Amino acid sequence: MPRQPQSLNAAFDPDHFREAGHRLVDTLGDFLERSLARFDQPVLPDLTAEEMLRRWSGQFSADPGQHFPEIIDSVLGLSNNLQHPGYIGHQCCTPLPLSALTDLVGTFINNASAVYEMGPVNIAMEKRLIQWMTALAGFGPDADGIFTNGGTIGNLTALLAARQVRAPYDVWSRGIDSSRRLALLVSDQCHYSVKRAAGVMGIGEDGVYLVPVNAEFRMTRQALENTFRAAESDGRTVFTVVGNACSTATGTYDDLHMLADFAADHSLWFHVDGAHGASALISEQYRHLLSGLERADSLVWDTHKMMMVPALATAVLFRDGAHSYESFSQKASYLFEQDSRDEWYNYAHRTMECTKTMMGIKLYVPLMVYGTALFSDFIDYTYGLTREFARMIADSSDFETAADPESNIICFRYTGKEAPLDAMQKEIRKKVLQSGRYYIVQTEINGGFWLRCTIINPNTTGDDLAGLLQLIRSCAR
Ligand SMILES: *Cc1c(COP(=O)(O)O)cnc(C)c1O
Repeated sequence: MPRQPQSLNAAFDPDHFREAGHRLVDTLGDFLERSLARFDQPVLPDLTAEEMLRRWSGQFSADPGQHFPEIIDSVLGLSNNLQHPGYIGHQCCTPLPLSALTDLVGTFINNASAVYEMGPVNIAMEKRLIQWMTALAGFGPDADGIFTNGGTIGNLTALLAARQVRAPYDVWSRGIDSSRRLALLVSDQCHYSVKRAAGVMGIGEDGVYLVPVNAEFRMTRQALENTFRAAESDGRTVFTVVGNACSTATGTYDDLHMLADFAADHSLWFHVDGAHGASALISEQYRHLLSGLERADSLVWDTHKMMMVPALATAVLFRDGAHSYESFSQKASYLFEQDSRDEWYNYAHRTMECTKTMMGIKLYVPLMVYGTALFSDFIDYTYGLTREFARMIADSSDFETAADPESNIICFRYTGKEAPLDAMQKEIRKKVLQSGRYYIVQTEINGGFWLRCTIINPNTTGDDLAGLLQLIRSCAR
């Protein structure tokens, strides 16, 4: 009989766990407190990837080495600090502390929810969330969906179903028929994951027909018709149109009613990429931005963007829930395999992943504890603050915005100095990051270079944003 090694015995010691855990929560609590006080640790440390690599030893020895609290201190000291109110960069949220704690429970029990028996609680929670979210989307009682690891896989999952339903032959079983090539239409502002999905699906990036947008960064009916004709004259069969709700670069919502009409007139699948912006459905004030969504066939909704859930947890929702079974199976197999539909709780039938993390629990628990108002407050606050930031910019003669913000994403640039504009913004961003006070990003729009902020931290204030403009002015000088 092998004896349990002493090392394993010690690693699972409940007292050690308690002690390390209490200490860890205190460390994180202190870190949060100092972050909220805007302490002077840089939001993002000014280190290149190579310099960072040198900070982390690659010597893994058989014997115990560093102490846990020391390593955690280094992790906190050298990471991008999303708790800091100066974090206004990419669309990755400042997670709710309670959601992070719930996530700890998830990883501790590790009920990796591919099938019911491996994640009974989380699977029930995800089902309840899907019911709630499809109702918010206006999808009706037949709707259904699944959770998956991010909007990128989410878009792929929805587009696979779209193809199975709309393609003139069973692509899943037979593979691509090169004499009947497919195409999809999406705005030239789309997230790159749409093109990547097309590549993965064998449609090819060439099968993604980019619809030019108007001055407000939205598709128009005219541009859609033109692009549709171009795809057809290339001998492609268009099967899907994808709307942005909202787009990544400028945060603009497409006109979903117009897209639904267009899809109906051409018998297309209508997919809405709401990875970032679908969370506005929770807000009385902003849900009108998604008007027409109820007519979509599918929707991708990242809760790790605007629901304060730590990465990742994406809902892929279908107005006709039966279509949720078509992403990874042969055409209409649900009709023949009623069994698999009865087994709604074995999500692996319908997801890219087999084993996956517990996603629903991270949203379900805070929703139950805090209620939905916290989440609508978050949307109202961040969307409202972004509009206020745009007003500050409009009132300054030395800045301009690329578009009026509709969400909590804003693109702007400094124009207060005679200098090549693009190079100046690049230089400004570099200096802003070096200051350590803010984390902002950049994007290219119509070939030009813009500073970009996602106001996604609920602790960022108008004063922080005014401070950013001041800092930019002094960086430009
Ligand atoms: C963020 C985003 C995605 C990608 O989602 P991930 O969760 O990062 O994979 C797709 N589409 C849009 C519009 C997005 O904003």
